[in-house]
Amino acid sequence: PIPVITVDGPGGAGKGTIAQALAHRLGWHFLDSGALYRLVALAAEWHGIDLDNESALVPLAGHLDVRFVAPDDGEDEARIYLEGEEVTGAIRTESAGAGASRVAALPAVREALLERQRDFRQAPGLVADGRDMGTTVFPDAPLKLFLTASAEERARRRYNQLSDKGLDVTLAGLAEEIRERDRRDSERSASPLRPAGDAEVVDTTDMGIPAVLARVDDLCQQ
Ligand code: C5P
Repeated sequence: PIPVITVDGPGGAGKGTIAQALAHRLGWHFLDSGALYRLVALAAEWHGIDLDNESALVPLAGHLDVRFVAPDDGEDEARIYLEGEEVTGAIRTESAGAGASRVAALPAVREALLERQRDFRQAPGLVADGRDMGTTVFPDAPLKLFLTASAEERARRRYNQLSDKGLDVTLAGLAEEIRERDRRDSERSASPLRPAGDAEVVDTTDMGIPAVLARVDDLCQQ
């Protein structure tokens, strides 16, 4: 089978940065599964569908018209198009994240996105970033990472990221949203956030990106 490395954990633990760097280094494909949930929330908003209207969200998720364009040299992230319109920035807002976490709580929406996520598994390999990559989507992955960090540290990282982009956010507001999102992600009945039994758990609270990458490299060698 085509190899997969899963990178799961709560928001702001550094998954995105680490998973993308790993994919780049290995020359493997990259799945940003959180973007899919964010896109469902955004598409729902565009089409006037309530975020708890499961029966209307399922066909929306199943037929999401989305295109990921791999980053060129000098770009740090893929460009994302929804129904032909670029939404790379629009899906990164805290409100899109909160919407994503609401639609992600619906089991039938998760089910509708399952095959789409598995389709990213293409040669020579895939690095998959999310919450349930190791537990549900790619349970046979040979290497599973689970990155965590304290809620305070994750709020600080989000704050730096978003204020760099010129977005108007406060540290206290982000910390509150992160705690709320953690609660929703870990208490839901469908694929709750938890490490797979065979995952390597890395607490990155006191680690910089280079140290996490070095640790991940070690785990890849084993
Ligand atoms: O990782 P990101 O912040 O983009 O994810 C947004 C939300 O989508 C998460 O808070 C979570 O509720 C949901 N999600 C999920 N399963 C995934 C990826 C994201 O439930 N594999």
